[in-house]
Amino acid sequence: MTPDTLTTLGTQIDEVFLLIGAAILLIELAEVLFKGSHKGRTLAEMAVSASTQIPSILIEIFLLTAAYGLYYILADAFVPWEIPLTWWGIALAAIAADFTYYWEHRIAHEVRLLWTQHAVHHSSRDYNIITGIRFGPLEGVWSLIAHIPLVFLGFSPEMIFFGIIVVLAYQTWIHTEVIGKMGWFDTVMNSPSNHRVHHGSEDKYLDKNYGGITVVWDQLFGTYQAEEETPRYGLKRDFDSRNPLVVWFSEIPGLWRDMRQARTWGEAWRYMMRPPGWRPSADRGE
Ligand SMILES: [Zn+2]
Repeated sequence: MTPDTLTTLGTQIDEVFLLIGAAILLIELAEVLFKGSHKGRTLAEMAVSASTQIPSILIEIFLLTAAYGLYYILADAFVPWEIPLTWWGIALAAIAADFTYYWEHRIAHEVRLLWTQHAVHHSSRDYNIITGIRFGPLEGVWSLIAHIPLVFLGFSPEMIFFGIIVVLAYQTWIHTEVIGKMGWFDTVMNSPSNHRVHHGSEDKYLDKNYGGITVVWDQLFGTYQAEEETPRYGLKRDFDSRNPLVVWFSEIPGLWRDMRQARTWGEAWRYMMRPPGWRPSADRGE
């Protein structure tokens, strides 16, 4: 196999999931149009979710070029070994990407600076295929950094991007309420039911089910939660905007306000690095 065939394979896998996602979206749209009671609101929400792709795609073009360059430079300078481009090498790349995604995603929930980006994905009160393409403008930057360890394990840039694409492509079909619970599949693989929990704002659903393709890492690291009652989607705080600029940058004003009110530079730094909702009183044990 050559790097080019691997890139083509990644694109083909992406297209298969896009087709599945498009089919589910048609069912969702039919439901909205023929029996939905808030048609205008739901369609406007879909439009604002789709609008997040505008800054994302523009930034992604630069990021992809930068990431390829950075990964090649690091590999050339520091990594004399390489994982061969064979079927087992590719399988390993997919597993490594799924593991990396778990931690990338979990840290994006636990570090407020990164949450300013990932919160965009969580800020819709709706849950449908279009929610799945709702991204923070700079989410890709953290993803690029989070995958650097894979370069040091000996994966080529093409193998790393293949892994990233497969993990993201897989998640296209799970953002839906059209598909219910799936039995044993839900205990091992990421599924619509598991991911609905991830978008829930109830305490027991918060910060659960970080997995990309599988939920094996959630089961291992204690963050798995099965779906019980239907989640209330969206942020914990009262946020329900359909203004694109407010949606793209929703968490920045709050973080900025807290940092400006901080009494020391250290406190301002901790506002950025600690989990969302952190207050200085938490460190003083109050
Ligand atoms: Zn998340």
